[in-house]
Amino acid sequence: MSDIDNLRDKIDEITLEMINLLKKRTEIVKQIGTIKKDLGLSVTDEKREENLRSKVISLCAEIDIDEGIGTRFLNFLLNESIKVQTTNKQTHLSIFLKAKSLEQQGKKIIHMEVGEPDFLPPKIVKDALEEVFDKGFVKYGQVKGMPEFRSALAKKTSEQYGIDSKQENIIVCPGARYAVYLAITTLLNPGDEIIVFEPAWPAYKDCAVNAGIKVRTIKTTLENSWEPSIDQIKEAINSNTKMIVLNYPNNPTGKILPKKIQDQILEIVKKHNLYVLSDEIYAQYSYGDWKSVLKYNYEKSIVTQSFSKSHAMTGFRIGYAIANPKIIEKMAKLQAICLTNVSEPIQYVALRALEADTTNNSNIVKSRLDIVIQKANEIKLDFIKPDGAMYLFARVKKEGFDGVEFSNKLLDHGLAVAPGEGFGDFKDFIRISACQDEKKLVEGMNILGDVLKERK
Ligand code: PMP
Repeated sequence: MSDIDNLRDKIDEITLEMINLLKKRTEIVKQIGTIKKDLGLSVTDEKREENLRSKVISLCAEIDIDEGIGTRFLNFLLNESIKVQTTNKQTHLSIFLKAKSLEQQGKKIIHMEVGEPDFLPPKIVKDALEEVFDKGFVKYGQVKGMPEFRSALAKKTSEQYGIDSKQENIIVCPGARYAVYLAITTLLNPGDEIIVFEPAWPAYKDCAVNAGIKVRTIKTTLENSWEPSIDQIKEAINSNTKMIVLNYPNNPTGKILPKKIQDQILEIVKKHNLYVLSDEIYAQYSYGDWKSVLKYNYEKSIVTQSFSKSHAMTGFRIGYAIANPKIIEKMAKLQAICLTNVSEPIQYVALRALEADTTNNSNIVKSRLDIVIQKANEIKLDFIKPDGAMYLFARVKKEGFDGVEFSNKLLDHGLAVAPGEGFGDFKDFIRISACQDEKKLVEGMNILGDVLKERK
């Protein structure tokens, strides 16, 4: 046997042994998952991870192996643990699906779990749908989107934020969700780290974990008005950190960051040369002093936008990202592999939708949110008034309250709300969406109040 064969045998042996060890590790992870669930503990435990990370770093120094490789390998293992322990997590989507199947069985449900406006898209959308066939938008198109649509989006962006945005800065995607997925998956590599403030829309974490990227969670609290601590952000950054996610106005809290904090975060981001992914799909629904990340003119920022909420076009699946052309190119490569291009008829319709004045949508949502706030105060939910978006994220002060159990119980009474657990470690919270008409919102909040008092 030649030397190379001998060495290869050893490599095989070590690799198989590593797989065996992974199996052993996974079994223990499962056991820990069950214990955590029984004790009501959260899946991610940053302190515990930090502790293990220090041990790995010490070992790397001791045995002279590159710390970056050691910690990336650890990140892979930690991600696998998270996947194993979060298989049955209940989110707003699980409740939505349950509600839909109850409706199919003939039950009436008030939908206060999803962020889907009940009003229709602008009238021009209907006209555009009729026109689109005759206009000849029936073929394959360009990966990044129709040039005239991208130009129109760039123009709108430039006017709105006083910046110089061009067609090259835009990629059209089937919804902001997909734009988020593209940004995370194409700009980061397995083992890299991303910082997410929780509570958060779950997709940031899901996309990252799916791509082998480690999520560093910075938990914010109601007591601190959902503001992240700058020190915590600084502490969480290491050589593997590549991106920070912002989402203001925020889903689920409705928070808009005070300008000073947002400025400080952008300074940190620039200092460490990180990407900033700013999901700004609720920009139209900001009732406070909100500043787009685009205004910072930072070359490593990616802003996601959508027609889903602003134009009530959730079902059309159309959104876009605004970024430096180099970033857009990277995102386009994956989009080409997965989709070829976004449906041109839908792009055409969205292009026409840009002509519509949607200010009334913001007024409608604001007045609905005010109703939910008033009712939530009456039933003594614990929350801070949202500065924007279309949700109220409220704590239920009740011994042993479990948002998942409660959301499922509410379904029996004809009301769907989202459990806080879907947005992070927030078992005693629920997210109430203000996307229904006044009558339904009042009825829904009354059901909520009654079930809380256990009158029903
Ligand atoms: N970002 C946030 C913060 C959201 O809440 C949602 C939808 N609920 C999306 C993105 C997804 O938007 P789209 O429908 O454009 O995929």
